[in-house]
Amino acid sequence: MVVWFLNFWPNMKKLRLGIIGDPIIHSLSPIMHEAALHALGIEGSYTPLQVSSNQLSSVISQRRENWDGWNVTVPHKGNIIPLLDTIETQARKINSVNTVVRLKDHRLWGTSTDGYGLIKALECNLNFIPNGTHVVLLGAGGAARAAAAALALADISKLTIINRTPEKAMEIVNFVKTLSSCQTEIMTPSQIIAPLSSGDLVIQATSLGLKEIDPLPFSPQFLPEKCCVFDMIYSSTPFLQQSQRLGFKTSDGLEMLLYQGVKSFEYWTNQEAPVEIMRQTLYHAKGRK
Ligand code: NDP
Repeated sequence: MVVWFLNFWPNMKKLRLGIIGDPIIHSLSPIMHEAALHALGIEGSYTPLQVSSNQLSSVISQRRENWDGWNVTVPHKGNIIPLLDTIETQARKINSVNTVVRLKDHRLWGTSTDGYGLIKALECNLNFIPNGTHVVLLGAGGAARAAAAALALADISKLTIINRTPEKAMEIVNFVKTLSSCQTEIMTPSQIIAPLSSGDLVIQATSLGLKEIDPLPFSPQFLPEKCCVFDMIYSSTPFLQQSQRLGFKTSDGLEMLLYQGVKSFEYWTNQEAPVEIMRQTLYHAKGRK
């Protein structure tokens, strides 16, 4: 994707960015992007906005002229699509948008940077290269769709999707088949009553774990032997803690947050993102070294 022609910036005006979602209070995107703007000397702001599903349409109409670009998070990544003017091909196929750019002609363009963020995070944190591997995906929402597409394009050999609603998993499988000849399999959590017999990587891509009262998305007792475990949520969820205690190599989603943000930032500014500053900001916020 050629970024320069999409971009409205730089014209030296204040860059107005933000993120919409529900819940939004936990989001680290504002501090990460404001640190990046500051580091590059770009005058601008990045504002979190709590938006419920029934407010989405009116908020997009308002933000159309007020924001130059924004991120989209749970639960709006699919529902925002009909409210935008043009969608990047891959994002349309996965029915998920996490980044919106207002073009020079004021049309709203949507894309997804989640898949890019995931592949970079797997490499950085788990030293995991997807080529030829069997990946088990928990969840079939927007992030899972983006992950499935990125993994299919990175030549995995098999994809297993475990989701409460099998129809949503089937939609992803049908889409993956247009991208790759990898084997596919669908299961519901209730079908799993013993450890999975294979799987090199398990990716937790449900929203379970965001709230303290959430049940486990999957019992870590049933993880396949010697697999790596990646939880997209960027804190130490009970699922991740229990997997770690059982001796699995684990990673949370902080590095994915970083790299999906890096790509979004580059779309908005047409400049190379200050990755290390963005990473340090996130690590500092999470009390990590
Ligand atoms: P969606 O709302 O699109 O999808 C949510 C998924 O969680 C669906 O598969 C849904 O199942 C499942 N789910 C929700 N509640 C339950 C429940 N009670 N029991 C079983 N399954 C449930 O969310 P996203 O795909 O956008 O995001 C998923 C997670 O990934 C979030 O926690 C988000 O924060 C994280 N994420 C992290 C990123 C990062 O950069 N680190 C980037 C993107 C996302 P069903 O289909 O049956 O409804």
